[in-house]
Amino acid sequence: MPLQLSQSALARYDSCARKFQYTHWDQLGELMSADQRSNLEWGSRFHQLMQQRDLGLPVVAHTFEDQSFQRCAMALVAAAPHLFDSAQWRDRLSEHRRTLALEGAVLTVIYDLLLLGDRQAEIIDWKTYPRPLQANHLAHHWQTRLYLFLLAETSDYTPDQIRMTYWFVQPLLQDPHPQSITLTYSQGQHDQTRQDLIQRIHQLTDYLAAYPTGPSLPQRPEDDPTCQTCPFALRCQRGDGTTAPLVVPSLNDIAEVSL
Ligand code: SF4
Repeated sequence: MPLQLSQSALARYDSCARKFQYTHWDQLGELMSADQRSNLEWGSRFHQLMQQRDLGLPVVAHTFEDQSFQRCAMALVAAAPHLFDSAQWRDRLSEHRRTLALEGAVLTVIYDLLLLGDRQAEIIDWKTYPRPLQANHLAHHWQTRLYLFLLAETSDYTPDQIRMTYWFVQPLLQDPHPQSITLTYSQGQHDQTRQDLIQRIHQLTDYLAAYPTGPSLPQRPEDDPTCQTCPFALRCQRGDGTTAPLVVPSLNDIAEVSL
């Protein structure tokens, strides 16, 4: 079985190799709070609605939630009409999945919306929380890096013809007021991402070869404050677990939806 990597797996590996092992190889999940679960369900329904709209299916409002979905969709259409104008694009692909084999690993992305023009491509990602003040952390997040990298590798577009835009909508506001952050791409960034991916793939391939009989993947350093709020604190014998959520088996990975 080849090593499978998504943006959330890469982000988790960078945050803590042991946490990556627990979540992706030992199949342990992180128990969500009621708020997290509610946000995830809303985000998931919003993604479905945007996909439904892209397929040309009617969006009928029966409930309060439906009405808030509609408000968001209409606000997005008003704020960024070019996203929904098929005439402007050679192709518009919704919930579009791409994979790439690299150094024996399989990298996977799922684009919320992919807009393909003659000389430019734009990756769109919907987020159902307020726009962050700083764009910097988005540029360095694995979602941005992997999504841009895979499109450049699996298409004829050069890196500088590709960009990625995050659209933030706040569904529970009467005026959802969508805001966006657009990130451009370059050959230099592409080369750096390739290098960083290969380094991690080599490390993980070695770990995977030794798993499950070999030693566990490394933990964060002792006394690392990250461990205090980690749901695996008890399992790692880091603290008494009173400040961390519980861990239950086999919950689905939630990080594909949220940053
Ligand atoms: S408790 Fe610390 S070492 Fe253990 S998985 Fe969490 S972050 Fe990693």
